[in-house]
Amino acid sequence: MHKLEGMTNVEPVRLGPESKFKFNCHPGVKCFTRCCKDINIILTPYDIIRLKNRVGLSSEDFLSLYTEVQILEKTDLPVVMLKLLKDENDASEGSACPFVRDNGCLVYEDRPTTCRYYPLGVASLSHKEDSDGEEFYFFVHEPHCLGFEEDKEWTVAEFRQNQGVVEHDKMNAEWTDLVVRKRSFPANMKWTEQTKQMFFLVSYNIDKFREFVFESSFLQRYEIGESTLEKVKSDEIALLQFGLKWLKWLLFKEGDFKMKAPAD
Ligand code: SF4
Ligand code: SF4
Repeated sequence: MHKLEGMTNVEPVRLGPESKFKFNCHPGVKCFTRCCKDINIILTPYDIIRLKNRVGLSSEDFLSLYTEVQILEKTDLPVVMLKLLKDENDASEGSACPFVRDNGCLVYEDRPTTCRYYPLGVASLSHKEDSDGEEFYFFVHEPHCLGFEEDKEWTVAEFRQNQGVVEHDKMNAEWTDLVVRKRSFPANMKWTEQTKQMFFLVSYNIDKFREFVFESSFLQRYEIGESTLEKVKSDEIALLQFGLKWLKWLLFKEGDFKMKAPAD
């Protein structure tokens, strides 16, 4: 299993791709599924697409049923978190991920990036990068996690590959870049509410963003090639990447979006 972001148990060790560690998680560990309780899991755009397809919902319905939104104080950006459920079998009044069952994760093949990373954390999203801007990793070592007592040895790179993190990071790279840039803004440079809504729409509500592209005045305002339009209409990953590029153009004036000349 996995977990994330409480970050109270972060070990002050900077790990690189070749750093080695011993860890294993499987149904035989005594703590199995413990880490899916009382947690905070921030969802990335790609996580939401995978999960909403897994449970057969639109992004709008998935967001409303399974998530809650918070504003990250440091970045002043909306983040989407899995909404935990009260655990009926837990006398301590704890709460648990809606997808955890006694025999494991119901959505394992589509589990979020954070769940895949655990017990590693990645510096680009959770912490500040190194002064040279390089990404690095660290352990989130919680006392209840017995996976560190197992004999299986990995390098960080092997673990990331094994857990499918590499693909998730690739899909989320443009979005992570946006968030990291926003975080480096001076605190008094705030985005407008409208900008934050656009960030939310593109990042988290992909089905509504598709409607926005094809059913609002968007296509009257921007010059978008036919082949791009065909692609983003049928491929939601392409639509996400398109949306993130558009946001980057809108916010940082980077990239090659062209506005149409106003009609006479
Ligand atoms: S999504 Fe799966 S792995 Fe992640 S917290 Fe929920 S049950 Fe655990
Ligand atoms: S070994 Fe760690 S990651 Fe695996 S189930 Fe136990 S607490 Fe979770």
